[in-house]
Amino acid sequence: MFEVNSNYGELQGSYLFSEIASRVAAYEQAHPDADIIRLGIGDVTEPLMPAVIEAIKKATDEMASRDTFRGYGPEQGYAFLRDAIAEHDYKALGADISADDIFVSDGAKCDTGNIQELLSPSSRVAVTDPVYPVYVDTNVMAGRAGSYNKEAGQYKQIVYLPCTAENGFDPALPKEKVDVVYLCSPNNPTGTALNQLQLQKWVDWARDTGALILFDAAYERFITQPDIPHTIYQCSGAETCAIEFRSFSKTAGFTGTRCAYTVVPKTVFGQDASGTKVSMHDLWLRRQTTKFNGVSYIVQCGAAAVYTPQGEAEVTEVIDRYLKNARIILDGLAKIGIKAYGGVNSPYVWLQTPNGMPSWDFFDLLLNQAQVVGTPGAGFGSAGEGYFRLTAFNTRENTERAVARLGNLSLT
Ligand code: PLP
Repeated sequence: MFEVNSNYGELQGSYLFSEIASRVAAYEQAHPDADIIRLGIGDVTEPLMPAVIEAIKKATDEMASRDTFRGYGPEQGYAFLRDAIAEHDYKALGADISADDIFVSDGAKCDTGNIQELLSPSSRVAVTDPVYPVYVDTNVMAGRAGSYNKEAGQYKQIVYLPCTAENGFDPALPKEKVDVVYLCSPNNPTGTALNQLQLQKWVDWARDTGALILFDAAYERFITQPDIPHTIYQCSGAETCAIEFRSFSKTAGFTGTRCAYTVVPKTVFGQDASGTKVSMHDLWLRRQTTKFNGVSYIVQCGAAAVYTPQGEAEVTEVIDRYLKNARIILDGLAKIGIKAYGGVNSPYVWLQTPNGMPSWDFFDLLLNQAQVVGTPGAGFGSAGEGYFRLTAFNTRENTERAVARLGNLSLT
């Protein structure tokens, strides 16, 4: 019989969201009339904005005519979209990124998951803890993570960098030799963001040690504070040691429409087994052109509309709506004496469970007493224990109702 990739056997079950779903289903069965409010899932709730819809409709009409129909598009994405990205997301901030460095894709999840294919199987990987699980699991699949230590809740060959209230969610630099680190800012799940000095420290470290930074900025559009960099390329030297991932998912409600991009500057180099310098841009281009056939023209037109004056205004309005929800959650938690982080540069609020309660116990308490669903921090890594994630992705009305219910919790 053929042999399968046994690295998959090392993956831990995708326990988090299935366990949440089964606990909620059990509760619903026992309380069929319960009015449950979901503040757990990281999916947007607002529809696509008018500028995007208009552009998508227009592009669809073009595809309906023999004269303007388009088949396969340019490999890295249409120039109209890559030019707009380079201009608005980088040049406007003084970051020296050109359209040529940008690869349009159908999601930051695939790109952050696929990028590790460019690394040697023996590369040492570091992640922050808690962590967006894709970074870890894709390295497990590639055989780079070693076996799982159940007691520690960690893979033996991955370096975990705790991010907790104790260190201000600013992870310490690794003590051991690390080849690649995944950073996510604003962070999922903690909702906190690295400031300019904190991020520059990582860039300096990467340049000193010859490491690569994989920087996930999927939540960049939620940044409100002036000292938080919008791109890692606002840090000096990052263009030689960092790859950046962005997405229209949370920016413009594209979770179901699918469009993202990855920046691989031509100045980022690794080396092969013989010590010869290799361009990461060339490798990613080769990888993408071999395994990926581009994002649909219609969707790229929709994404480009985000950069028009009308699109920018509409995006800002929707993001502000989510951020106001986050503020309502933060204020509600403060009122009942629960410490919480994030929510200012992010749609995620990361609360500290009262009296150090295990995060799954807090999940049950919130479901039973308030019929509110959140996400237990332990599901994102062992350093997430004692924390709990609530998201601003909901209507104002539901957010306010959920927060009012929090006020009635009995926490002793
Ligand atoms: N990166 C982070 C940190 C995320 O939280 C998410 C989605 O929740 C993604 C990437 C996925 O983005 P996309 O929808 O573009 O695949």
